[in-house]
Amino acid sequence: MDAPLSPGLYIVATPIGNLGDMTLRGAEILRGVAAIACEDTRVTGKLLHHLGIKARMIRYDDHASDTQRDGILALAAQQPVALVSDAGTPLVSDPGFKLVREAKACGITVTSLPGASAAIVALTVSGLPSDRFLFAGFLPNKAKARLELLTELAQVPATLVFYETAPRLIAALRAIEDSLPGREVAVARELTKKFEECRTGTPAELSDHYVAHPPRGEIVLVIAPPLPPSADNFDLDGLLRAALQHSKASQAAAEVARMTGLDRKALYTRALQLK
Ligand code: SAM
Repeated sequence: MDAPLSPGLYIVATPIGNLGDMTLRGAEILRGVAAIACEDTRVTGKLLHHLGIKARMIRYDDHASDTQRDGILALAAQQPVALVSDAGTPLVSDPGFKLVREAKACGITVTSLPGASAAIVALTVSGLPSDRFLFAGFLPNKAKARLELLTELAQVPATLVFYETAPRLIAALRAIEDSLPGREVAVARELTKKFEECRTGTPAELSDHYVAHPPRGEIVLVIAPPLPPSADNFDLDGLLRAALQHSKASQAAAEVARMTGLDRKALYTRALQLK
């Protein structure tokens, strides 16, 4: 490195699988800092070994005590300190938010070194609209909360991006089928790694596939934006009948209106006919 680094906090993105994706600038920063705050010293230790870097590592996540955070901030006020997560971009469903927030409040310079993030890799490989997207982190683990979130986001006019884990993929696809009918979905798995795949289809097609071929590894779900609110785009009777199984006509109409963006009154009339 030409000149020593200025004091401050350096957010450094690291690869999400393929070590070749470490950026030159990110590696240079990791080589030049006084310490690296990281989630897991073993994981970061392997990356540093690969890069031929010996550095002091400090374990850090957002559950760290104020004293631990203050220690890192005090160091960053005097010397260059990096923050990395196990993989990808720190702060994106990873630790770092509190540290950055407090660093800025203390007047410490924060610099972000861009690199891999699974959400962006998945969006760009999915073939789904990329002009407007909403990244919403991990889908909730519990069925009720998952359904509530998907229903809340059903009419957001954007591609939706979620992180997911292999054991929960099928439940997630079924919840998407129930709450976001007719939407195309991409399952982006093991991105940048040997067994990378991106499979696109309806949630039903994808859950059939993954029931037959249980998925492994890391997964991002990408969901196409809502279909235009036209009755032709939905099996309205099917949706209403399903909703009527657990709700009265007015609630069923409201539920299907939320899913489809269609007029609740017309749906209510039809729900009464179907009852
Ligand atoms: N901060 C990271 C980033 O910027 O990508 C994400 C960290 S989050 C704790 C981990 C989740 O990211 C995984 O459960 C998975 O949903 C997604 N992920 C990370 N690496 C991935 C990969 N190689 N392929 C697919 N998804 C990945």
